Amino acid sequence: MLPTVIAISLVVSVLVYLGLFGFAVSQYRSSRQQQQTETVDPHSFSAKDQPETVYTTAELEYFDVLWQGEYGKWRSSDYSANDTAYTYVHGPYCPHDKHALGIQTVPKWVILTEHVWVCDACDRTYPYPDEELGDGTIIERAMHRRIKRKRQANQSG
Ligand SMILES: [Zn+2]
Repeated sequence: MLPTVIAISLVVSVLVYLGLFGFAVSQYRSSRQQQQTETVDPHSFSAKDQPETVYTTAELEYFDVLWQGEYGKWRSSDYSANDTAYTYVHGPYCPHDKHALGIQTVPKWVILTEHVWVCDACDRTYPYPDEELGDGTIIERAMHRRIKRKRQANQSG
């Protein structure tokens, strides 16, 4: 009887150990993959090109940092009659001093890391919303709404 109990508990502890190890490895792998797929340069944030002809600019605070938006057309006004106007977002910038923020990897727990936005000028850091930010369309949509409201306000006033 006793040898059986010992054998079973041995097997269970080995399984638990293997399970934990596997979990740790998978966590490590997923954090590595995230780093590789991320855009590190905050200024190539928008997939679009900065417009040459700008009608309206706006500033937006989102995820506790500042974003600049431009609404306009890609080419200079001589050629842009048939172009579609669009919203272009660049940033983020430090809300404290408006310096461009970089992305830094900081350790979190033993093998995990997380990202923060860091300001070179004042050394403040802001949490980087890995999951919520996605490809940045959430910022673009928010900026688009703000610029739309601003344009409407300008037209009526
Ligand atoms: Zn700053």
